[in-house]
Amino acid sequence: MPNKNKIPTEIILTYKVKHNYDLKNLPNNFLKTLNEAIDIIWNNINWKEKTIKHRYKVGKKYKYYKTTRLIPEIPKDNDFKRELRNHLLKGWEFASHYIDGAIKTAYSTINSWKSNYLNGNREINKPTFKRPFVRVKNTLIRHDKENGNIRITIKPRKEYLVLNIKDAWFYEKIKNFNVGEVILKDNEALITFKRQLDLSDKEVIIGIDSNLKSLDLYHSEKGWIRVDLSELHRIKGIYDVIIDRLKSIYKKSPKRIGKLLKKYYNRRKNRVNDFINKLTSQLSKLFPNAILVFEDLNKFNMYGKNSKFNRDLDRSNWRRIAGKLEYKSVVIYVNPHYTSKTCPVCGSRMKSQEGEVVKCNNCGEFNRQFVGCFNVFKRGIKLVEKLLGGAGVPVTGVKVDDLLSDEPRGELRLMPPNPDVSYIVDLNGRALLQV
Ligand SMILES: [Zn+2]
Repeated sequence: MPNKNKIPTEIILTYKVKHNYDLKNLPNNFLKTLNEAIDIIWNNINWKEKTIKHRYKVGKKYKYYKTTRLIPEIPKDNDFKRELRNHLLKGWEFASHYIDGAIKTAYSTINSWKSNYLNGNREINKPTFKRPFVRVKNTLIRHDKENGNIRITIKPRKEYLVLNIKDAWFYEKIKNFNVGEVILKDNEALITFKRQLDLSDKEVIIGIDSNLKSLDLYHSEKGWIRVDLSELHRIKGIYDVIIDRLKSIYKKSPKRIGKLLKKYYNRRKNRVNDFINKLTSQLSKLFPNAILVFEDLNKFNMYGKNSKFNRDLDRSNWRRIAGKLEYKSVVIYVNPHYTSKTCPVCGSRMKSQEGEVVKCNNCGEFNRQFVGCFNVFKRGIKLVEKLLGGAGVPVTGVKVDDLLSDEPRGELRLMPPNPDVSYIVDLNGRALLQV
């Protein structure tokens, strides 16, 4: 998952390819060296005692008690690092950059152990790696884009491994990407591909709210746009009926029905995936210059009530739609708290109501789905401004208090219950169809 507090600046994709190159024990040696590096760093940790004050309430008064914790200080000075590197290089027969990769991995492993330990999620247990692998730094990789060759130096000027990805199924997707790090194992390689995201062409912000039968978008120039999802709903419905029926007779013949269930679960999944793939590529094609704003689904857990998901699209599909779009567009996430209950005009909290319409005591009635995507949009603008800083916002035509281009600043007209534009996903074509 990407960092939610940053505008993503690059797209990273990872693919696996098989190879049958003899790595001459490199993965095993790397594993040994990595664990040795962890050992050495671990043994040089300086444990500092720290007194921590706790308090608890008895009646109206607080009582205090103290405990002592050991806080690890990880050795980081250059002398230590140089000595560590020299020590690990002794007898190392492969490229020395692998040692740097091992040290980097050792540090990041211990640092993540430390933050877990400080949060109380881990004991004082030294982390160790068990399975052989090699982390190949970028400096050991030559990427020949034209021929699809990725050359990895095993021993400088002596031994190379060449992976050709021209015929790989993912080649089209990463044609314009650069190769990042590679994780090598005995029979396979995990290759990371990266592409910088250009924010300079991003001119609009779109807030997106997912509902059961529609994806509701609020576009900073075009206003409310809907994409019809009833076909997705229908596809799922068909398979749900079949699956429910099979479940009800499961006991009669568990083996046979089990097989059928698996078959229909797969078909359901494939058809849903197909729909979402088309939806997301058609969307990103229609709005190539947009920053897309979604609600941060992980934050729903924080607020106990998941009423949204009783009503709306199930969580996994929504996650998938946002996740797929991350590879095709710039996606950011905002706090979902009360997005469907905040009045789009005055910002006051509206009461929970059933049905299509929500009502603000000061401002009147609104369409629920419009309110959802509009509030996501508003939070998106604020986040973009915060992240990119006031002056450098690459977003024209939108400001928090300047929402509709044809309205005086700071004022909002009530949106009609129907959006101006609506689309359906074309299952046979490449572009969303306007209806
Ligand atoms: Zn209001």
